Amino acid sequence: MAPDPARAEIVVDLAAVRHNVRLLRGLTGPDVAMMTVVKADGYGHGMSAVAAAARTAGATWLGVATVEEALALREAGDTGRLLCWLGVPGEDYSAALAGDIDVTAYSQAELAEIEDAARATGVTARLQLKVDTGLARGGARLEDWPDLVAAAAKAESVGLVRVTGVWSHFACSDEPRHPANDDQQRVFEEALEITAAAGLTPEVRHLANSAATVLRPGSHYDLVRCGIASYGLDPAPGETAPDLGLVPAMTVRARLSMVKRLRAGDSVSYGHRWTAPYDTTVGLVPAGYGDGVPRIASDRVSAWAAGARRPLRGRVCMDQVVVELGDAEARPGDEVVLFGTGAGGGPTATEWAQACETINYEIVTRIGGRFTRTIV
Ligand code: PLP
Repeated sequence: MAPDPARAEIVVDLAAVRHNVRLLRGLTGPDVAMMTVVKADGYGHGMSAVAAAARTAGATWLGVATVEEALALREAGDTGRLLCWLGVPGEDYSAALAGDIDVTAYSQAELAEIEDAARATGVTARLQLKVDTGLARGGARLEDWPDLVAAAAKAESVGLVRVTGVWSHFACSDEPRHPANDDQQRVFEEALEITAAAGLTPEVRHLANSAATVLRPGSHYDLVRCGIASYGLDPAPGETAPDLGLVPAMTVRARLSMVKRLRAGDSVSYGHRWTAPYDTTVGLVPAGYGDGVPRIASDRVSAWAAGARRPLRGRVCMDQVVVELGDAEARPGDEVVLFGTGAGGGPTATEWAQACETINYEIVTRIGGRFTRTIV
C-alpha cells in the first residue's frame, strides 16, 4: 500500500538543491569542477532527482559510494561523469566499466579486480586512486603509495586503465583549526608528487568535501566533492558564516492525528518521562523512530505547529510522538513541521542534530521510513 501523504511527508525542494550547488560553485570559481555527492539516496532526498537538479546547476561530476548506486544513476538516465569509491573484496567492476563509471582503487588487490574487469569487458577502466592522508579509512597509506602508483602506471601502459584521478578525504574539515587538516594536505601533496614522478597525469586531483569547500579554499585543487552543503545543510555548524546562504532542501511535515487536553500532573508516553506541570494541550504526530525520528529527540527538540515552535514531549515512540501545543487552537489534520528550511523561525535538521547529539547528515539520511516523499 502506498504511504498516505496525509500522515507525514518529506518535501524535497529541488530549486534549493540547484541554488546550493550554484552557491558552492561560486565559492570555488569556474576552474574547479563540482561533484555533487548523492550516495545514500541523495542523503535521504532522493538520489536521481537530486542528481538531475545538481547537473542542471553545473555539477559535472556525481559521487556515490557503491557500484550499485552508480549503476542506478545510469539506469535513471544520467550520462555524465560519475565516481564510486566503495568496492568490497571480490567486487565485479564489469558493469561499472561498461557503464562508463570512474572507479576507485585503494590497494593493489582492488586494482587487480579492476584490471580483471577491463580484460573481461575490453573497456579501459577509468581509475581513480585514493591515498589515505590521515582518515585511516579507505586509501593506500603513503608508504604503500609508490607501489600502487607504479602498478597503476603499468596497467595504464597496456591500456587496461586510464588514471583519471587521485584523491583523498579529510577527517576534520568541520574543525578548520584542527592540525590534522594541514597534515593531511601535506601528505596529499607528497602523494601527488609521487604520482607525477611515476608519469601519471590524472585529470582531477581532489580532497575537499563541503566543509573544506567552504572553509579551506586552498584545498579545492581541480574538483570539490560536496554532499551535505548541496542539500542546504551547514557543513560545519559554528564555523561557517551564518549568512552563507545555503537553503535546506528537505522539509518534514505531518498532520496532527489527535489533539487532547491534559491536566497538570498527567504524564506523557512510555516511561512517563514528562509530566505536564500545568494544564495544556498536546497533539499526536504520526511519526516515530520507525520513520527515523531519533528516539533521543524526546524532550529535546521542537516542531513548528499552530504558528509557533512547540516542544516534543515524552518519549518518541515507534509510530508517533507528542507535541505540546500549550493553549494554541489546534485540530486533528493541522500541519506540523518537524524540521525544514528554518524560515520564519522553524526548526532545522541542523538544530535537531545538535539537540540529538548527532550530525545533520544522520538526521536527513535516516528520516523517511513510511513517509511519502514529494519532490517539488
Ligand atoms: N567525499 C567522500 C569520499 C565522502 O564519503 C563524502 C561523504 O561522506 C563526501 C565527499 C561528501 O562530504 P560532505 O557531505 O561533508 O560534503
